[in-house]
Amino acid sequence: MLDKSRSKELFKKAQNFIPGGVNSPVRAFKAVGGDPIFIKSAKGAYMYDEDDNRYIDLINSWGPMILGHGNGAIEAAVADALKSSLSFGAPTSKEIEIAELITHMVPSIEKVRMVNSGTEATMSAIRLARGFTGRDKILKFEGCYHGHGDSFLIAAGSGAATMGTPNSPGVTKGTAKDTLTAPFNDLDAVKKIAEQNKGQIAALIVEPVAGNMGCVIPKEGYLQGLREVCDKEGIVLIFDEVMTGFRLSKAGAQGIFGVKPDITTLGKIIGGGMPVGAYGGKKEIMDFVSPQGPVYQAGTLSGNPIAMSAGLMMLHYLNDHDEVYEQIGASGQYLAKEIAKVNTALGKNYTINQLGSMISLFFNEEAVENFDGTKACDTEMFGKYFQGMLNEGVYLPPAQYESWFLSTSLSAEDLDHIVKSHEKVLKNLLA
Ligand code: PMP
Repeated sequence: MLDKSRSKELFKKAQNFIPGGVNSPVRAFKAVGGDPIFIKSAKGAYMYDEDDNRYIDLINSWGPMILGHGNGAIEAAVADALKSSLSFGAPTSKEIEIAELITHMVPSIEKVRMVNSGTEATMSAIRLARGFTGRDKILKFEGCYHGHGDSFLIAAGSGAATMGTPNSPGVTKGTAKDTLTAPFNDLDAVKKIAEQNKGQIAALIVEPVAGNMGCVIPKEGYLQGLREVCDKEGIVLIFDEVMTGFRLSKAGAQGIFGVKPDITTLGKIIGGGMPVGAYGGKKEIMDFVSPQGPVYQAGTLSGNPIAMSAGLMMLHYLNDHDEVYEQIGASGQYLAKEIAKVNTALGKNYTINQLGSMISLFFNEEAVENFDGTKACDTEMFGKYFQGMLNEGVYLPPAQYESWFLSTSLSAEDLDHIVKSHEKVLKNLLA
């Protein structure tokens, strides 16, 4: 077993001063048992904890570190920006540059507003959709997570599912009644809800490839079907690409599935590791945002020059290097294939959902196409598996309801270490 005594000590202390000892719930390892690991540093594919243990990182800050930790170009851009002050609260040329690049990389985005997190992006996007349509209701999908805005904490995935508080106290009944939910991958359910709420739904918001109930891939024609329902009913289609944006392709999931949303929400990779989010889309809708239009949204640190510099360098790099997606896509395929081989040899047919650099291994032998599929997984087994992998030096997301995120820093040896660890840990668990 690894020595984690310093992490243990820190967690004990943290709980005196920070609720649950962490600043975001899933970090507390509640879903997998044991104490959380406190991280000291990271470089390339590896994270190092306070006890100097090394882990292959399959979280990558929950997505942003697609190029691994300590990317030289991004760090140099940040160091350069530091020379000119940390923040101005006034417009800068970098904000134009990043907005122009985003509209180039994601063609459905004609104008974009920068914010500070994915949560801000989705909250702002639905306010905009409501202001634009003059309607109140929104439709979301069970198991999709769109940040912690009140309207989204209904049948939410990610940490909200893990913590068993999908309907969080503090969300008013008034807010909750305006959020309709449907199962993911079920187009008929959406059609029915749209019919029953004719003229009342402002927005349909979806993770086009879900990552917050584990990785769940849309069925053939599903996203096109959502587009058609929205067109027919005058509903604003929002793709929440906070996770998938710049990860599945330069143009995110929409670039792969060829469906254009009206609004896209972004986060994670767009900040290169700094706290950044964005929402953007059709000009006619975005021009409803203040000060051009009546829908208010603002931010003291929005467009922060340090964050913009990191994000801009990240996006330039991705725009100029198609091989990033080839490489991490190949890593994803390799892991999915090799892990499946191990499972089969051990007599298990666990579902593995993988698209590009997003992967989930589900302890469920049935297909996982929606939240019910994820919820049917053996989460106790996942907890033991997670601890086993951690002990082998592989840091997975600490819940079954999450996707693994790969980075370009993973070497062939790292991938083989993950597969070998998987084999060792699973054999032990099944013995
Ligand atoms: N939308 C999606 C799809 C996400 O995955 C997340 C975060 N995991 C969010 C929104 C919220 O982003 P943030 O945590 O930056 O507020």
